[in-house]
Amino acid sequence: MAHKKLDDYTEDDLGQDQPITSLKILVIGESNVGKSSLMNRFIDDTFDPNMANTIGVDYRSRVVNVDGQTVQLGIWDTAGQERFRTLTPTYYRNAQGAVIVYDVTRRQTFERVEQWLQELDAYVNRTDVVKMIVGNKTDLVIESTEAGSNCDNETSARVCVQKNREVSREEGQQLARRHSTLFIEASALENDNVQVCFEDLVYHILQTPGLWEA
Ligand code: GDP
Ligand code: MG
Repeated sequence: MAHKKLDDYTEDDLGQDQPITSLKILVIGESNVGKSSLMNRFIDDTFDPNMANTIGVDYRSRVVNVDGQTVQLGIWDTAGQERFRTLTPTYYRNAQGAVIVYDVTRRQTFERVEQWLQELDAYVNRTDVVKMIVGNKTDLVIESTEAGSNCDNETSARVCVQKNREVSREEGQQLARRHSTLFIEASALENDNVQVCFEDLVYHILQTPGLWEA
């Protein structure tokens, strides 16, 4: 990664007169793919395994430093509305970036990604919004050599609650290439690639000045 790691700015830093860029980032995708979990992991490094669905929490923010620039990220979660496909135009309006999430162990969530991209294009009032497709829950994947083979003895019970991968990394990459988006596989549970996902998205937004400059 050529650019700097994300570093939280301290109160003191914020007191200085460096202008703060404010960005709106959306997190979309099917229910239960881990959108809220990715957001929470990114915002305050927490993971709640019992989080059933998102009611009431729809926006969280964090100040980060990307590539020498102080950025106030406003992350918009769906508050569970994605189940009813009723995300409003207000949700999409003026977003500079979007994270489109699927679950690598549930193929139908991957197959819906193109529809989420279409909805994004239909509602976001600019064409250059930066998109990142995220294949989440990589921690659940058992390698195909293990799959099924040792699932009938007691000691492998834990392994057996894990799942087969239903979407390969290559398929994810191909989809991203077709739609000119960024791509990453991640695990909110294991905090794998979560920071870098948002970091990379912000980095690319900052590379597109028309997107964020007043
Ligand atoms: P959302 O509906 O897309 O916001 O999904 P949630 O963030 O509410 O997560 C749905 C379920 O998947 C919850 O039970 C989470 O604990 C679980 N989950 C989310 N991310 C991961 C992950 O990376 N790995 C695993 N194993 N489970 C996850
Ligand atoms: Mg949610």
